Amino acid sequence: MISVRIPSDHPRAESLHVREKLVQAYSDGIVATSGLIAHGRGEAFDYLLNERTSRPARNAAEAAAAILLTAKSPVISVNGNTAALAAKDMVRLGAITDSKIEINLFYRSRERELAIRNLLLKAGAHEVLGVGANASARIPELSSERRRVDPKGILSADVVLVPLEDGDRTEALVRMGKKVIAIDLNPLSRTAQKANVTIVDNLVRCAPLLIEVAEGLKKKVCLECEKLARDFDNGRNLAESIRIMKNTLSTLAKTGLANRRLEQ
Ligand code: ATP
Repeated sequence: MISVRIPSDHPRAESLHVREKLVQAYSDGIVATSGLIAHGRGEAFDYLLNERTSRPARNAAEAAAAILLTAKSPVISVNGNTAALAAKDMVRLGAITDSKIEINLFYRSRERELAIRNLLLKAGAHEVLGVGANASARIPELSSERRRVDPKGILSADVVLVPLEDGDRTEALVRMGKKVIAIDLNPLSRTAQKANVTIVDNLVRCAPLLIEVAEGLKKKVCLECEKLARDFDNGRNLAESIRIMKNTLSTLAKTGLANRRLEQ
């Protein structure tokens, strides 16, 4: 693979670094081809958020952390892109919230499973569920490879965090009575629409934010977590994210010029 040196003064260095990470992970067999396409789709929505974590995203992250901390058996579901972009953060979040880590892939192969498991172990995970024969249970009414889950993990979980998920499985998990927390830059995706809590933010920014918020909440009393979880309204929160995107477009529609950050 040809590796590209990204000049540190390049105006879009951060975004290019993230892309390079994914391209490297693709050649390491961690990210699927469609994962690269999905990232591009996410980037387009991130422009509309001015590539910043919004207030509604922060509120959703607080509710998500509260739900994870008060869950009985929470699981963090990891796919190729999530492993490539946030393996360490997901493992850290798992440790803080006492969540298990499970691999779940749309394009499942033995090699990919093992490559992702190794990455997660290197990132500090003690146990990685959903690998090989351990993914022996099936989510009902789902025909993709994503139906395969671990009885010790997603099958018996009450809360599942699904960064960069596909809509079918989100719907199926909700039908099974699980609380689903999604991280998705596209507020219109079926995942974003069907999840109980959707954090409309880039995983790269959102993962450290979730850690910070969960660490803060863990020191407080349970009652605060319960209130945060109870009061959260996903529809209202999604509407706020969509309004931010609409306002960005309205401003652009007046002048045709993006703010400096995006213009560069
Ligand atoms: P759905 O099936 O939910 O309607 P989809 O077909 O777009 O959506 P996928 O192909 O699995 O589902 O795409 C994953 C989602 O992840 C996309 O909605 C994309 O916007 C989002 N996404 C991609 N990269 C990131 C990222 N870095 N942070 C947050 N979201 C991302």
